[in-house]
This record gives sequence, C-alpha cells and structure tokens, in this order.
Amino acid sequence: MDYTEIITEIYNEVRGIKERGKVADYIPALAEIDPSQLGIAVATADGNVFGIGDWQTKFSIQSISKVFTLAMVIRHIGDEIWQNVGREPSGNPFNSLIQLENECGKPRNPFINAGALAVTDRLMRLYERPKEDILCFIRQLADSEDIYFDKNVAISEIYHSSRNSALAYFMKSFGNIEGDVETLVDIYCNHCSITMTCGELARSFLFLANRGVNPFNGEEVLSVSMSKRLNALMLTCGFYDESGDFAFRVGLPGKSGVGGGIVAVIPGELSIAVWSPGLNRHGNSCLGIEVLERFTTRLQTSIF
Ligand code: GLN
Repeated sequence: MDYTEIITEIYNEVRGIKERGKVADYIPALAEIDPSQLGIAVATADGNVFGIGDWQTKFSIQSISKVFTLAMVIRHIGDEIWQNVGREPSGNPFNSLIQLENECGKPRNPFINAGALAVTDRLMRLYERPKEDILCFIRQLADSEDIYFDKNVAISEIYHSSRNSALAYFMKSFGNIEGDVETLVDIYCNHCSITMTCGELARSFLFLANRGVNPFNGEEVLSVSMSKRLNALMLTCGFYDESGDFAFRVGLPGKSGVGGGIVAVIPGELSIAVWSPGLNRHGNSCLGIEVLERFTTRLQTSIF
C-alpha cells in the first residue's frame, strides 16, 4: 500500500490550521524552534517509508525516548521493573509531584517524568555505558547510524532541571532511586535530547508494529508479550492526562514528546511519526494529534 496520497491530503488540510499551540519554553533551547514546521512519515514493515513536509528534519524526541529506555530495561529484567514503577494512567501532568508522596515514591507509570527517571535509574545499573548503549539501541531500531544527542538541548535542560531533580531526590528518599541523582538527571536529559527525523522515528517504532521483532535485522527486541505490554502502556499512558482523549480521537498506541513529535503504531501494519512543535496545554503536539485523528479516520483502521 502506498500512503503518499493520504498523508499528502492530510498535510495540505492541516497546514492551514492557525491554532497550533505553543512551543515548549521551559527548556530554553526548545523555545527557539520555528513553530511553522510540520512533517509526517509512515513506515511499513516491509521497510518502505512515505513522507511529506518536514519529515527529514531532525527534532528533539524528548519523552518519546522513554519508550526506548523502558524497552532496554524490560528486555533485561522483565517484570522486575514493576517493583519500581506502576502501570496505571496518572491523570496528572507529566512533571507532577502530587501523587508521589501519597504513593510512597512509586510513580504511576513509566512515561511520566518520575516513572522515566526510575526506569533510567535501573538502566544505569544494567548497562555499562548507558548513553552510548541508548544511542546504539535506537540506531539499530531505526537502521540508521545518524542518530545523536543534541548537546545544546541536553545542557539547556540540565540547567533547568530543578523539577526533575526534585522528583528524583524525592523518590530516593523512599528508596526508589539507587543511583547518584546528578548522574541520573544527566543521562535522562541526554536521552530526551536525542534528535531524529519523522522518517527515522517511524522506522524505529516498527518493532512495536511487528510483534517485537526489528524488521531490519530480524532480531527479537522484545517478546510478543512484552511488545503487547509496551503498546498497552503507550495507549493508556503515552499522552499523560490526555491519554484517554488520544485513544478516543486516534485509537492507536502512541507516544508524544515536548519537542512536538508524536509516534503511533498500527500493530501488524505500520508506524507513523508526526512532528509539529506547537503544543497544547497537556504538552502534546496540536497538529500532531489532528493529523493522526484524520489518518485513522480516513483509513478506517485503528486498534478498535
Ligand atoms: N525532557 C522533558 C522533561 O523532562 C520531557 C517531557 C516530555 O517530553 N513530555 O520535562
């Protein structure tokens, strides 16, 4: 199937939309991004990629990286991670501190910041060279060597990481973080800073559309059951306190980041990445959701 026509149509429709939200400015380096950009890429399991607009421009994947780090951890320790992190939607903003005290320092799920920090803390102990290993993992999934940290974005976030450091120290006070918090926040901000294009991002999520197998080298990244679970977590928690609405409008497992990227998966068929830097009040790309809603509605395909 050729997806060029459908994504071109949708691109032409939505690029006229004026209400595009606001770029993330709490990470100063992200505030400088031109909000008029829009890219869409679809990757199919046979290795084809269809793209339109700014689909070959690199952008900061931010929280989308939390899916990669979780995959890296569960492929090693499986269910053990659920001792540190829950798997329920939080119904709160991604950087909220509120539930952590009542719930004794155990974050609701791996995609809110607290949960991702707890996952990265485990990752630090499982991998000898965490930063290099994260890049290597993503490069294999995307079948591209051209994937790097954006040092400018990483440093900008580290300088403004009081809230993430607070989350990490708070969890440490409950014994739910073992590593050194400064090192943890450094690794976390670096993995959030990774830049990818829509094309690379769509390719790198194909394993989740392919029962856990990387279609580029045939390697089993996750078992069928783990891949089901990761998709289930993306569906229920991938958009923070907008996860219900994303499921309602789009009907696919997916993950967003404050860089304006969203990637979603139709299991057994394809993955699709959209990038538009303007965010709504939940920190999710306004046009990204709009594109995906039109895509599944027009295709008449979702997981429902
Ligand atoms: N690096 C960002 C943060 O920690 C990621 C947030 C996001 O993309 N939702 O705040």
